[in-house]
Amino acid sequence: DYTKPFHNNADTDWSLRKNAYWIQDKVEQVKQAAIADIPLQIGGELIVTEQKGQGIDPSKNENLYQYSLASAEEVQRALDVAEQSQGAWAQKSIEERAKILKDVAIEIERKRGESIAVMVQEAGKAAPEADAEVSEAVDFANYYADSLSWDGMLDGTEFKPLGTVVITPPWNFPYAIPCGGILAGLMAGNSVIMKPAPESVYTAWVMVNQLWDAGVPREVLQFVPCPDNEIGRSLVSSDRVGAVVLTGAYETGRMFQNWKADMRLYAETSGKNSLIITNAADPDQAIKDLVKGSFGHAGQKCSASSLAIIEADVYDNPAFMRQLKDAVESLTVGQSWDPSSIVTPLMLKPEEKLQRALTTLDEGEEWLLEPKMLEGNPHLWSPGIKLGVKQGSWFHKAECFGPVLGLIRATDLQEAMRIQNDSDFGLTGGIHTLDDREIAIWREQVEVGNAYINRPITGAIVRRQPFGGWKNSCFGPGAKAGGPNYVSIFAEWEQSGLPS
Ligand code: GLU
Repeated sequence: DYTKPFHNNADTDWSLRKNAYWIQDKVEQVKQAAIADIPLQIGGELIVTEQKGQGIDPSKNENLYQYSLASAEEVQRALDVAEQSQGAWAQKSIEERAKILKDVAIEIERKRGESIAVMVQEAGKAAPEADAEVSEAVDFANYYADSLSWDGMLDGTEFKPLGTVVITPPWNFPYAIPCGGILAGLMAGNSVIMKPAPESVYTAWVMVNQLWDAGVPREVLQFVPCPDNEIGRSLVSSDRVGAVVLTGAYETGRMFQNWKADMRLYAETSGKNSLIITNAADPDQAIKDLVKGSFGHAGQKCSASSLAIIEADVYDNPAFMRQLKDAVESLTVGQSWDPSSIVTPLMLKPEEKLQRALTTLDEGEEWLLEPKMLEGNPHLWSPGIKLGVKQGSWFHKAECFGPVLGLIRATDLQEAMRIQNDSDFGLTGGIHTLDDREIAIWREQVEVGNAYINRPITGAIVRRQPFGGWKNSCFGPGAKAGGPNYVSIFAEWEQSGLPS
């Protein structure tokens, strides 16, 4: 319901020096509070197991902590508890569950500094990037809390929760994405089992603790890291699971479906996104937004602009290219806890696709800015820009997930749009132009879930830009996270089907 006001949470003001100091103190505290071993939480019990996973500090490629991994029996126990606890949770009134979500929003806000510091430490995130995740999580909590109580939504329509929802989040948004999935599942009256990404268990642990502290019952939100082998599979593909929420690679979505063809899978997967810059763009604004979308969090976003499709006059203008190169060259590459860093360490050592993108050129391509590995640390790369990327080439098609931007020349807007739509994926996309006619044509034809005009193509804001893809960027009914009908997909609706 877009007639009612919704107030998005504000990010921290990083122009104030005191806020940088505040986070530096928090990071020091997190560093000192050596966490040894993160347990499972099943049925309210903290369980330390024999089999361990290893958490890595991406800045130094060193071990940071270890965590317990569930066995096949523990997975089955968590599923038992989820079934047993779900009925009482579903019987609570919508208002009662909404109240808990609102309390979650308050708790998340209260712990903002701690959450940012943990992401800085474990997930290699620069503080402003981590801060935006906390704001998004607060928004998810407040927004989903009201999602089932809008006028008309419940008129004569009965809904039944799906039962148990399993959350399998990514490491690149280790806080906001799982938090949103959990809260949507809970709000609709489901039990939730959280299986964190192996690379970001610490952030996930901190987040679920905040939810428990705010009043989410431990039995309806269980924490079950498990290995990505037959044990993980036994959780994800269990017949006892009502829905699986995935954010990750397209291949993972396919793998889940192969495990169980009739799985109810809500997934946001892979993107190869581009920003069109036409001759009618404001070049200064276009460069600013392109750079933000391409190199924020070192390009490790499904939503990142990894391609710019540039109309001929702009592409052929040396002043534009020089300005773009200067802007990217001036981004500070460094550790996540250094407030001046923009391009932070890569979570994973580059392999295969990213390694190829960082180190090789295909025919006709040349470096406008060649990426370099820094300090002998394979996680730390300066950003790169490829010129002369061709439609249909490897770089045009492959999602590389790192700090490399490819530039494609287009003769006109029509050609630019053909190139933009020539993709198996359709997550985000954008255009920079000040010409209303071009905007109208583009809106009509672009094949992406999140279409942005004259702004960066990353950083979707809850309710304003519900987030989700088309084509191979999406599995499931296509309801978008942070949008009006997202909570409703976690329930079965009688009579009228999904509310619109
Ligand atoms: N929601 C994020 C954004 O708008 C992207 C999430 C992702 O990378 O999976 O930038």
